[in-house]
Amino acid sequence: HRLTSASATREDDVVEATIRPKRLSEYLGQQTVREQLSIYIEAARGRGEHLDHVLIFGPPGLGKTTLSHVIANELGVSVRQTSGPVLERAGDLAALLTNLQPRDVLFIDEIHRLSPVVEEVLYPAMEDFQIDIMIGEGPAARSIKLDLPPFTLVGATTRAGLLTAPLRDRFGIVQRLEFYTPAELTQIVQRSARILGIACNPDGAAEIARRARGTPRIANRLLRRVRDFAQVRGDGDITQAIADAAMVMLKVDHEGFDALDRRMLKIMIESFDGGPVGVESLAAALSEERGTIEDVIEPYLIQQGFLIRTARGRMATAKAYRHFGLAAPKPQES
Ligand code: ADP
Repeated sequence: HRLTSASATREDDVVEATIRPKRLSEYLGQQTVREQLSIYIEAARGRGEHLDHVLIFGPPGLGKTTLSHVIANELGVSVRQTSGPVLERAGDLAALLTNLQPRDVLFIDEIHRLSPVVEEVLYPAMEDFQIDIMIGEGPAARSIKLDLPPFTLVGATTRAGLLTAPLRDRFGIVQRLEFYTPAELTQIVQRSARILGIACNPDGAAEIARRARGTPRIANRLLRRVRDFAQVRGDGDITQAIADAAMVMLKVDHEGFDALDRRMLKIMIESFDGGPVGVESLAAALSEERGTIEDVIEPYLIQQGFLIRTARGRMATAKAYRHFGLAAPKPQES
């Protein structure tokens, strides 16, 4: 398991239950998203209506699940949580929908992985708050319409492009989460440290933040690992020196890259002359799934300017070469 993997572990889930922000005011960073949502939420509340359906997209660990719960809390309603792959049959979704209270939030994680039959049920549910369900089997089977309470669907996905157009079109509010800045992550680390009772000075928090790949989940996990290090090798307090020493041990470099990030960049440079290389070839060379590269590894490398995506494949940038102390090849004439 990767320390800097953005996907949640069991330990994350346990700890996250205590540090996960519950209100919009505790949800740090993502200023545009927060501003817009606070208006929509206040307006819906003022009218006593359900909030429009919300689509949230962004890489893992940036706060999509958290935001769905925050939205429900701010609306003063309950949230039901499920995910695309879990909803196997139309009946699974129907059961959830018919149990909602008016204005409740239904959160569907990985909504791009809904099966087509389940997605079909979702369309009229989102649009008219109605579902058609089949009763009985064979020639006696008939379909009946059920009215649903008005509700808010919050869907999360790693990339908006993965959704079918008819599904995407049914969301009135679309929000994209961006990687957090080091300053925002510093605040997040300090908040978590406060809640968990960890002594962490501002420089220590900033050092952890810089190495967290723009991702709150990773920042919180690094904080816990650095705490262990501080306790055993120091006096328990997290300072910049302690954080830095812990990162050396954890093999997280100054850019926040771990072995897998470095291996991918190295392979691009050494085996593919810097690219362009297709994502399938990269996946094969790395023995990783294509989806892991696309959703987890490459978005941050792209955002940080180490990698670019072209029509012909991925290319390592001069910055990537410099990261390994290598000279970048001269741009080719075309
Ligand atoms: P996702 O659903 O996008 O994978 P989560 O919502 O599970 O990500 O977020 C991972 C963890 O990061 C949360 O448990 C929470 O502690 C922290 N987190 C996420 N977003 C924020 C934020 N804006 N402010 C503070 N902490 C956050």
